[in-house]
Amino acid sequence: MTPLDRTLAGFRAELAQRAAKLPVEPISCKIGCTACCHYPLTISILEGLTLYSYLFKKRLWTDLIRNACVEHSKRTWDLHPLVWLLAKLPCPLLVSDRCFGYQARPLSCRARVSKSLPHYCAPQSGGNIAEMFELHPEVKDLWEYEQRLLAKQKTQRFGLSVSKALLTAEKLVSKHETLRNYAYLFLGND
Ligand code: SF4
Repeated sequence: MTPLDRTLAGFRAELAQRAAKLPVEPISCKIGCTACCHYPLTISILEGLTLYSYLFKKRLWTDLIRNACVEHSKRTWDLHPLVWLLAKLPCPLLVSDRCFGYQARPLSCRARVSKSLPHYCAPQSGGNIAEMFELHPEVKDLWEYEQRLLAKQKTQRFGLSVSKALLTAEKLVSKHETLRNYAYLFLGND
């Protein structure tokens, strides 16, 4: 097992524990309702690596998804979150209204649920924009945990779009790079 594998194994265990702590409550989300998959979403490289490894192992890291990530990464890099929200840019893993990486989706996606009319999840339908940016306490705690884990690797947590995180994870794994150098990778061209 490489040091990166060991770090990721510990991180995945933490992620699973936090996902299990998310309250199970009556929600109004329905299959095929994808409003929140158009919200600005950032994740860490650790969640990016977890998602990439799932997609790769399941042979879901296809040219279609990779190309969607390259396009999404170009469009969202440096984009103001409010513009991103109002532009309704779909997540690159959203294919035919289904999440391609559902089993390994980020904690933010798991924590974001609707308890009222899903209609109002779309900003264009008069939804509450402040609520669309709200972070669940478990997600905040995970971000702090990630920061501590990455500090041990002499780097820090950056919020990356799902596309940027996946493309960086691909580079990191294929170049056998260490986490310490991941910032150099996400700054490069995709
Ligand atoms: S990772 Fe999946 S659940 Fe999360 S925004 Fe993308 S498509 Fe939606």
